[in-house]
Amino acid sequence: MAQPTFSTHVGMVDILPDEVGKWQALERIIHEEAKRFNFEEIRTPIMEQTELIARGVGQLTDIVSKEMFAFERGDDQYVLRPECTAPVARAFVEHHLDQRGGTQNLYYIGPMFRAEKPQKGRQRQFHQFGAEIIGADDPAADVDIIALMMAIYDRIGISNTTLKINSVGDPESRKAYTKALKDHFRPNLSELSQISQDRFEKNPLRILDSKEEEDQPYIKDAPIITDFLTEDTADHYARVKELLKELDIPFVEDPHLVRGLDYYTRTAFELISPDLGAQDALGGGGRYDLLIEEVGGQPTPAVGFASGIERLMIACEELGIPLAEEEMLDVYIVTLGEKARKWAVKHLPKLREAGLSASMDYIGRSIKAQMKDADRENARHVIIVGENELNEEKFVLRDMKASEEETYSFENILNQLVN
Ligand code: AMP
Repeated sequence: MAQPTFSTHVGMVDILPDEVGKWQALERIIHEEAKRFNFEEIRTPIMEQTELIARGVGQLTDIVSKEMFAFERGDDQYVLRPECTAPVARAFVEHHLDQRGGTQNLYYIGPMFRAEKPQKGRQRQFHQFGAEIIGADDPAADVDIIALMMAIYDRIGISNTTLKINSVGDPESRKAYTKALKDHFRPNLSELSQISQDRFEKNPLRILDSKEEEDQPYIKDAPIITDFLTEDTADHYARVKELLKELDIPFVEDPHLVRGLDYYTRTAFELISPDLGAQDALGGGGRYDLLIEEVGGQPTPAVGFASGIERLMIACEELGIPLAEEEMLDVYIVTLGEKARKWAVKHLPKLREAGLSASMDYIGRSIKAQMKDADRENARHVIIVGENELNEEKFVLRDMKASEEETYSFENILNQLVN
């Protein structure tokens, strides 16, 4: 009978041991920068009720209407989370995090799921890191969120980026703008792509996000939202820009930036990299002042960003940024014979207790094969243990880089390696 073959679902990838060092290095940077900015980590389940995501992200977005990994259990309907802002908002409301006082400055790292057509920089399981400030209306919060995102990219060495910003208005500005947009598109509606025609009635703002060629001439001439902002919203936007300038964070205004999630209000931003090809967004975010109420809480202003880790990795590769240093093993014990192996099993813990990383051969390979293995593991030192060495209680310590060896007692080896 033929052996069954198994593979990952399309658009989902294994992160293999050779890759993991980069992920760990990147996660370390995210944790450190988040701490510097006084953000606390939050971890939510990867499964959420469908209704939460539908209300939060928006029924008419591509994410909710086409890309959910959805399933049922009993009477409940769930999805694998496509993003983490709605889950964080749910956790904030469910656990009354507002009672901790002040603003909640939260960040997360984890897998997200969207059933998109896979391509470079677009997977069905991908990873995001992101941060949220919940409970602040002030532009200082918008700017601190952007500064945290930029600090992470700066620290990694990705500086050739463009920060695009816009204000997508509050409900009042949006109402006036939606009307103007509809008036603009209506006379040529039949010339627009089918997707844009479908969006026209329910969510005309999303037409601006269309990539369809036939839509572009009409999008180019479309009215811009910043001409429809209420005084308050315009003032908020002006203050965000002023603070960004004061912090020397360069940005360009893109009045057609709408983002793919419906919960944004007022500030919206996106970080673009020329090193990514077609999928050029590293990350993005904005204000979502209505979301907390939408998922059952008290009206609470909030702002956040989310960034894709795979895209960040692609940018690092393009720019030749290594992210992680090569992993080294401090000591590899090469053994000859059963007794030597027993000795190694007993002495590995002593090396590890001294803070060294240490390993041995478990499967009785030849000395030559073990030396090769030590090389493959990037061992700095090898201890060679055979019959003679055991009798004399003196062992060969080989410095792999210098290709030099000396004979010592185990205690002296330990001293040598630790000091
Ligand atoms: P969004 O939650 O749509 O605002 O996306 C924020 C960031 O997540 C994007 O700028 C990308 O870097 C990343 N991202 C979104 N969708 C995917 C995907 N399907 N595959 C890989 N990265 C993604």
